[in-house]
Amino acid sequence: MTEEIETGAPAAEDGQGLIEKLTSLAKRRGFVFPSSEIYGGLNAVWDYGPLGVRLRRRVRESWWRRVVEGRSDVEGIECSILMNPRVWVASGHVDAFTDPLVDCLGRCHMRWRQDQLDGDRCPNCGGALSPARRFNLLFRTFVGPVEDDTARVYLRPETAQGMFVNFKNVLQSTRQRLPFGIAQIGRSFRNEISPGNFIFRSREFEQMEMEWFCSPGEDERWFDYWCQDQLQWFQDLGIRRENLRLRPHAGEELAHYALGATDIEYRFPFGWGELEGIARRGDYDLRRHQEVSGRDLGYPDPITGQSLLPYVVEPAVGVDRTALTVLLDAYDEEEVRGERRVVLRLAPSVAPYEVAVLPLSKHADLVGPARQVAAELRGALATDYDETQSIGRRYRRQDEIGTPLAVTVDFESLQDHAATIRERDSMEQVRVGFDRLLEVCREKLGLAG
Ligand code: ATP
Repeated sequence: MTEEIETGAPAAEDGQGLIEKLTSLAKRRGFVFPSSEIYGGLNAVWDYGPLGVRLRRRVRESWWRRVVEGRSDVEGIECSILMNPRVWVASGHVDAFTDPLVDCLGRCHMRWRQDQLDGDRCPNCGGALSPARRFNLLFRTFVGPVEDDTARVYLRPETAQGMFVNFKNVLQSTRQRLPFGIAQIGRSFRNEISPGNFIFRSREFEQMEMEWFCSPGEDERWFDYWCQDQLQWFQDLGIRRENLRLRPHAGEELAHYALGATDIEYRFPFGWGELEGIARRGDYDLRRHQEVSGRDLGYPDPITGQSLLPYVVEPAVGVDRTALTVLLDAYDEEEVRGERRVVLRLAPSVAPYEVAVLPLSKHADLVGPARQVAAELRGALATDYDETQSIGRRYRRQDEIGTPLAVTVDFESLQDHAATIRERDSMEQVRVGFDRLLEVCREKLGLAG
């Protein structure tokens, strides 16, 4: 069976259409569901389904391997979401983690983030807008039975502060010396004024952050190093280079703690947007925590014997935003024999499944051997198995969820002990003996050698 690709088929539409298509595919196939949907959902909060979990886990693992496990100079930690509230006083979040909020005074009364508006009228109804007021993005809750100011704590808005407050603990419990990093992956919460664009901006999300501690004066060099390193990481996830760019922040745009910052941006359907922020934080955070806690957070320089506060370079990226980017960049549509084919051209390293095993039909003679093949592959590869519906529909499903390879067991397999491997992108098929299936799949997935 050959499936012809008609060249010059219309490319996937740009703009909001693509986000809508992806949102619907994600729900239909089990990547992302609206949170608590049977109750009407909760604005800007999402749940991940079976395929979304696989994709996110692979994104996280890839980052962790690159930034932590694959190096000798970065240590991992996991901190609690609740921290002593003085952490957020010292970091500046209690006072300064605000966005300018404006209300529509016209018909619709919607609220907007002023710095994201083009003009001075309500983008929804054209009404006049109120003067901006500072809106703090921290989520508040209470520890213990009494809900008063002394019991107030915050849900962390970033994971970074966990690394700063544990700087001394990590230094003293490991053999690390400058330069070295401390990293963590975990949930963060921001009461965003205008969330949206699917999982691009939500109120609960997951971050992958690393604080790189180095000697003052060496931070610019390390800043360039981490910008390039992270740019390469996105390409290793299969994101096309032409859709990525580095955008240095202009002076007036810099956060209060930053000596310099660059965003790695992606060309989203709604325009270029931040995928990762990389900042030179100087000694701002350690200095502030030293002042507010009264504890010495200095690093004893082994050569001079003097105490110094290291400078910090921070790459900070979202798991959800990376997953969205990987999906958007992979989304494609083409015409195959007069039919529209939707295909996620995911890199094998992030695809929820690396291979799907499909008996040609549900015939009992085929199901047994096909299940056997799946069980053997599953030991080494992320393997799906599907015997429902027609083979054509099952190929379409695997294309839509981005599975790079499909192994089909047919009646001939009962004689020649071989199956057909179909490649998602080219739809080419090759016949391979059962005993070499794993080896050939690994080769095609780029895992050989
Ligand atoms: P913005 O200015 O767009 O609100 P930010 O500059 O405050 O974002 P950072 O604090 O640099 O964002 O966060 C680091 C990374 O965490 C971002 O690049 C993004 O990938 C992710 N992130 C931040 N906020 C959100 C959110 N509300 N939803 C999803 N991911 C987020």
